[in-house]
Amino acid sequence: MTNPTVENLVIIGSGPAGYTAAIYAARANLKPFVFEGFQAGGLPGGQLMTTTEVENFPGFPEGITGPQLMDRMKAQSVRWGAELVTEDVVSVDFSQRPFVVRSEEREVKAHSIVIATGATAKRLGLPCEHQFWSRGISACAICDGATPIFRSAELAVVGGGDSAAEEAVYLTKYGSHVHLLVRGEKMRASKAMQDRVLKNSKITVHWNTDILDVFGEENHMKGVHLRNKKTGEASELHVRGLFYAIGHTPNTSLFKGQLELDDIGYVVTKPGSVETSIEGVFAAGDVQDHEYRQAITAAGTGCMAAMLAERWLSTQGLVQEFHQTEASEKPKAEQATKKSEAEQESEFSVDATRHEGGYALRKLYHESDRLIVVKYASPNCGPCHTLKPILNKLVDEFEEKIHFVEIDVEQDPDIAEAAGVMGTPTIQFFKDKDKVAELKGVKQKSEYRQLISSNL
Ligand SMILES: Cc1cc2nc3c(=O)[nH]c(=O)nc-3n(C[C@H](O)[C@H](O)[C@H](O)COP(=O)(O)OP(=O)(O)OC[C@H]3O[C@@H](n4cnc5c(N)ncnc54)[C@H](O)[C@@H]3O)c2cc1C
Repeated sequence: MTNPTVENLVIIGSGPAGYTAAIYAARANLKPFVFEGFQAGGLPGGQLMTTTEVENFPGFPEGITGPQLMDRMKAQSVRWGAELVTEDVVSVDFSQRPFVVRSEEREVKAHSIVIATGATAKRLGLPCEHQFWSRGISACAICDGATPIFRSAELAVVGGGDSAAEEAVYLTKYGSHVHLLVRGEKMRASKAMQDRVLKNSKITVHWNTDILDVFGEENHMKGVHLRNKKTGEASELHVRGLFYAIGHTPNTSLFKGQLELDDIGYVVTKPGSVETSIEGVFAAGDVQDHEYRQAITAAGTGCMAAMLAERWLSTQGLVQEFHQTEASEKPKAEQATKKSEAEQESEFSVDATRHEGGYALRKLYHESDRLIVVKYASPNCGPCHTLKPILNKLVDEFEEKIHFVEIDVEQDPDIAEAAGVMGTPTIQFFKDKDKVAELKGVKQKSEYRQLISSNL
């Protein structure tokens, strides 16, 4: 579908950089159009959707979870008029003006662009990596090092460059000892960084070392299996944390050949600025920053990008202002209290499409003649937040044809356990008391739609 109007500003990405750019541009009456992303380059909401507590973002002395922080940024951008779509950009054309940005569902023309597609931390691909990711394995020592679980524990860092050396030194503040696992017999880090590592009595460097796997208990890793590349000798190292410092891949494959990228693929910006090699195209956050890679620096550069875009549009005489009488209503904090059985019973109506909680699920299981779609989610799970708007739209589409029940697994753990739910989000589909299908994680909207249609 082609949108005939030309947008002032298209923002690609919805991490701290993208949403901050959206907030600033929306408040400048530019009505930015944001491609939040879906599956390319991470989740809508960005990297913080995959973490629990964020303890270093200013303004939250008590800490805040990553998904909550990103929900707030999103709500703030919507409140001021940003238009958001949860779609991946699949191609851009910066060779013509207005620029053209395409997803699978639409083509949008824009006078200016903010690229905020972030970067993805490289992984080792160990057999048990997925199981222990964020349960001992971390891609960010600065973010996670101070977590109580790592305090006074033995820790390991994998990598041989400056980041690995810096992270090893940083972690000595918290861990009782740090093991630096280096694949070769030399480090790539600068001489000065190597000296800091080698002189530090709290760091042991393991040269020529391959990591074969991670091991541990259900909820936390306890160590790593190693092999010496020279001798072939296998060993175990008991550590509570494994910090990856093996580099990041900037999410820039879309932009190859369209604007200047460095050797690794980061967008090149002018020193001290977020301007790229193309006028009217700006880059913010981790996609142009291989040094700091923090939420606050991403948000800071997102702000810069929106302000520079506005300035550029004004000097070119291209601004189309969207005046708002006032910001839309302030978003309300989500209510997390569990309703009593009596409250659930009094609110229940079999005619309603949407339901919440165990009482409704039990009633519908026995009484419904519609397809029952049950969503098991938890408040701090990033992918659950991603799935929410997707399913909401689908439930609207199938109003009165299905029953939709939301189960918060923290409030109703027994129900989730009885249903065999091992992770969130999980969607189960029931018809005539039979489970007809189950989908785990976040899938394309079309997959849910197809399952619903074929089971009505
Ligand atoms: C596990 C973990 C914990 C962390 N903890 C902290 C912390 O405690 N404090 C801190 O300051 N920092 C932390 N960080 C780092 C922080 O998350 C990043 O620095 C920050 O998120 C970068 O923001 P960004 O907006 O540049 O990019 P990202 O957050 O990476 O967001 C990129 C966005 O681009 C979108 N995207 C990508 N490709 C496309 C496409 N083709 N089309 C449309 N959209 C696309 C993605 O969907 C995503 O929304 C952590 C990182 C990780 C991985």
